[in-house]
Amino acid sequence: MDYKPIMDHGRSSYGVPNPGYLPSAEGPSAMFAPPAPDSQGPSAPPASMFDNMPGYEGTVAGGGGGFLPPPMPTHPTPQPQPGSEQPQWNIPSISEATAREAFALWVSSKCCYSSAPVKDGVITNMEAFNTYRYRLETFTESRSTEWSHEPYKGQPVDAYAQPPPGPWDIPATAPSYFTDSQQIIKVPYTSSMKSCHVCMGMGRTPCKDCTGAGNKVCWVCNGAGFRHGNERCNHCFGRGRENCHFCHGQGFKQCPTCHGKQQLLVYINLTVKWTNNSDNYVVEQCSGLDLDNLSQVSGKEVFRDSQYLVYPVMGFPDPAVVNAAQRLISEHQGRFSQTSRILQQRQTIELIPVTKVTYSWKGKTHIYFVYGNEFKVNADNYPATCCCTVM
Ligand SMILES: [Zn+2]
Ligand SMILES: [Zn+2]
Ligand SMILES: [Zn+2]
Repeated sequence: MDYKPIMDHGRSSYGVPNPGYLPSAEGPSAMFAPPAPDSQGPSAPPASMFDNMPGYEGTVAGGGGGFLPPPMPTHPTPQPQPGSEQPQWNIPSISEATAREAFALWVSSKCCYSSAPVKDGVITNMEAFNTYRYRLETFTESRSTEWSHEPYKGQPVDAYAQPPPGPWDIPATAPSYFTDSQQIIKVPYTSSMKSCHVCMGMGRTPCKDCTGAGNKVCWVCNGAGFRHGNERCNHCFGRGRENCHFCHGQGFKQCPTCHGKQQLLVYINLTVKWTNNSDNYVVEQCSGLDLDNLSQVSGKEVFRDSQYLVYPVMGFPDPAVVNAAQRLISEHQGRFSQTSRILQQRQTIELIPVTKVTYSWKGKTHIYFVYGNEFKVNADNYPATCCCTVM
């Protein structure tokens, strides 16, 4: 049933898959999204805090760092090759007993429905409207960088010890294919120690609750020291002020940015993101069953093909599937090859069984649908939706 398309490297005008990627001659250049005006809070570090790192010139601080397009591969990438053999496509259908059973189960799940149409209805016709779902998954890796900092606690400082490796030369541990994941890596040889910009290297910031005074107006006597004429305030003992609870009367708090360390380690973070980009196409079937229903069920997998770049499925009996494969593969190529590195693609075709059952009950004709591997039932016009009124 499944077939493994044959990769003929000799015949291919290109080389082997997964070449060693090296930076292009110009060196990696970053494509940066325009900075959002409020993306950096008031405590954003000044640009002067960041050293000039070769290969990371456009890196900025804060979220939404620039996406780095992958360098051109030094070896030509392999082109997808069509499979040499075609699988046998066979179309299953369900039996009358299966349809009846599924229908009975569906009715029993509806608390008020009468089972009379199921028991007494006579199936007059069963028609297969089986359809196909084509799915293309493109598993990509993308990389972006941003300046970051953390309290300095004696971490190694290595900026300028040697030039940092290019963003696409840093090894990252890829998860298993087709699984979303993310890894954040401190770029080697970009770490330096800087005085904390938030506390100016003091390690502490004035308490916001007492504006640095260490005490504030007594909330009980409102600063008078007396209540009810000349009775002394027993909350502040006549002082009119009380100690600030937030800073324990000190007037300052530990700097939240450097955690009191006065110094920051400033470095470039590389974010490596693995994404499974999946798109579906379901062939329209003219049974009257809404296509949306089919997203809830699975089908029988009749074709699976996974490789670095897939080739549009050929010779499939339904031309709509062939067209969808061509369209989606070309779309994914255009969408993902510029901004990320495609690691693997997978295309699958599922056959989703859809059976339209016509039955007669009390002299009238009704229909229901049984669909999916799960034998899900849809019967929008069930004739006995309230058991109380049916004799
Ligand atoms: Zn305070
Ligand atoms: Zn008081
Ligand atoms: Zn600080």
